[in-house]
Amino acid sequence: MDATDIKAAIQAQREPMQALFDQLRQDGLDEPGVSRDPYGAGEQRAHATVAKAAEALGLEITRDDAANLYMTLPGRDRSAPVLVIGSHLDSVPHGGNFDGAAGVLAGLATVAGLQRLGLTPECDIVVMGIRAEESVWFQVSYIGSRGSLGTLPDGALDVRRVDTGRTLASHMTECGGNPDALLAGSKHFPDPTKIRAYLELHIEQAPSLIEAGRSVAICTGIPGNFRFADAWIEGQHDHVGLPRRFRHDAAIAGAEFAIALDTLWADYDEQGIPMACTLGRFHTDPAAHGLTIVPGAFYFSLDVRAYDETVLAGLEDKVHRIIEGIEQRRGVRFHLGAKARAAVGLVDPAIKAGLEAAAADHHIPVLHIGSPASHDAAAFGAVGVPMGMIFVRNANGSHNPYEAMTIDDFLDGTLVLFQWVMRDLKNSIA
Ligand SMILES: [Zn+2]
Repeated sequence: MDATDIKAAIQAQREPMQALFDQLRQDGLDEPGVSRDPYGAGEQRAHATVAKAAEALGLEITRDDAANLYMTLPGRDRSAPVLVIGSHLDSVPHGGNFDGAAGVLAGLATVAGLQRLGLTPECDIVVMGIRAEESVWFQVSYIGSRGSLGTLPDGALDVRRVDTGRTLASHMTECGGNPDALLAGSKHFPDPTKIRAYLELHIEQAPSLIEAGRSVAICTGIPGNFRFADAWIEGQHDHVGLPRRFRHDAAIAGAEFAIALDTLWADYDEQGIPMACTLGRFHTDPAAHGLTIVPGAFYFSLDVRAYDETVLAGLEDKVHRIIEGIEQRRGVRFHLGAKARAAVGLVDPAIKAGLEAAAADHHIPVLHIGSPASHDAAAFGAVGVPMGMIFVRNANGSHNPYEAMTIDDFLDGTLVLFQWVMRDLKNSIA
């Protein structure tokens, strides 16, 4: 089996995968872009389409109590720890076609490549279509993957989807899941040591690969985060003529908070410590604001992320110190509300080295980048599963309708994944 045969096995997936991407776009079409709402009609259609493609490949199809989809190529030893290749099939509202879906299709292409070469792996290869990764809907991270691992945070099943107002449990039930079983402790992967590795291919969500003129990057880490989805600042609504010294202006307090966070970020940038902070929602109260009113309430969401738990803890401390200062200076009160937390995802060094070697086998030059975004891979890493990720060049960013991954670049990334599988299973493949 030489490199030419291996590459040909992946190139042969060009048309079927292009057709599958086209079908997924059609299924999710919600101009502009696609909407694959998690535990809703959009995500359901994507799951059905992908399951149908997996069935055509003769894979075993199963689902768990969180309604995740498992498409398994049986290995020779069914009790051996499995290799999981996966990503999510939901999208943000009016998102692009590739964020998430590319990783699931890369898994299917890998399995189809093995079949084409007539190879049966020693262990099962499980392609996983993960539910509800995009936290814009339920404001909880990694719902599907953490549901499969039994690590969903307390209360997650009771959170409400922001658009429907219905609980996760209710949405999940509607899509064939069993939230009661999850509550009682059911999990698809009761023993993480039974997962040999978790691999995920994903479009890059920043323009590093575009800038570098390369098609593929190897992930060096996934950021952890702390988040406040529903924070607000309490000041005092007042007359527009009120002198400055009497004001408790919540909007100005919000503005000061934003500038302080950006200054903090610039400091970290200067020290070469990667992080990011985002005030995704940032507004006065539309029911109470107006031209002649000093804003007495200001609403925001905050996401702070970094690649190191110590850095993240330090940042949290600093954010609280900034808030205390503003409260004292401006006579306002911050109400941060519930905090959500996601652990930093550490990439397994051996997998990273293996992916680099796989790319070198096919003369594909790669970048090394820390993921700007959160990914399900972090949920697997958090329970000790060796994890690795591949990023594929993508123009125009993500979480918008204009994502633009080419099929050539997708096949480059998939070839790196496939070659890694061939290397990893070399001694056991038959
Ligand atoms: Zn994604």
